[in-house]
Amino acid sequence: MLPVVALVGRPNVGKSTLFNVLTRTRDALVADMPGVTRDRHYGFCRLGERHFVLVDTGGLADSDEGLAGLTARQVELAIAEADVVVFVVDARDGLLPTDQAILERLRRTSKPMLLAVNKLDGLDESVALADFARLGVANPMPLAASHGHGTLQLVKAIETLL
Ligand code: GDP
Ligand code: MG
Repeated sequence: MLPVVALVGRPNVGKSTLFNVLTRTRDALVADMPGVTRDRHYGFCRLGERHFVLVDTGGLADSDEGLAGLTARQVELAIAEADVVVFVVDARDGLLPTDQAILERLRRTSKPMLLAVNKLDGLDESVALADFARLGVANPMPLAASHGHGTLQLVKAIETLL
């Protein structure tokens, strides 16, 4: 069985863009509209030494029900079946309370987790990473998924956790 890696994060942080780069497909729905990918979406990542199944999720949004709802349930399922979780955040938005809420959820699992700080293109990397350092996750991975920057390093970091 191939290991499974799940992409988790708020809507619009670039999960589907990252999914497309890592699986080299245009399958996942990329849109400016938040929350477009409603359910889980599977692909194969063959970029590194070890191949793995990648799961794109619709993202966890804050709502009246907190992290509840159909999309959140899909994310829960993705976390449950994952060997590694990649928590994607948006450097342009900066650290938001929803990011903190998602991290709290992820910390309740024993799954190994990587923090990917996306949309770093055109930003000061050290400033952006310092903002997310407040999450207390070691070794955040700098990323600009739509430019293909940092994706191979991310794959290598994932491999160390498989
Ligand atoms: P998702 O909701 O987390 O799956 O996010 P999407 O992959 O659909 O991307 C949301 C928006 O962010 C789209 O307009 C993407 O083109 C854009 N985006 C994704 N990655 C990057 C990046 O590295 N830099 C910039 N500037 N925009 C990005
Ligand atoms: Mg998406």
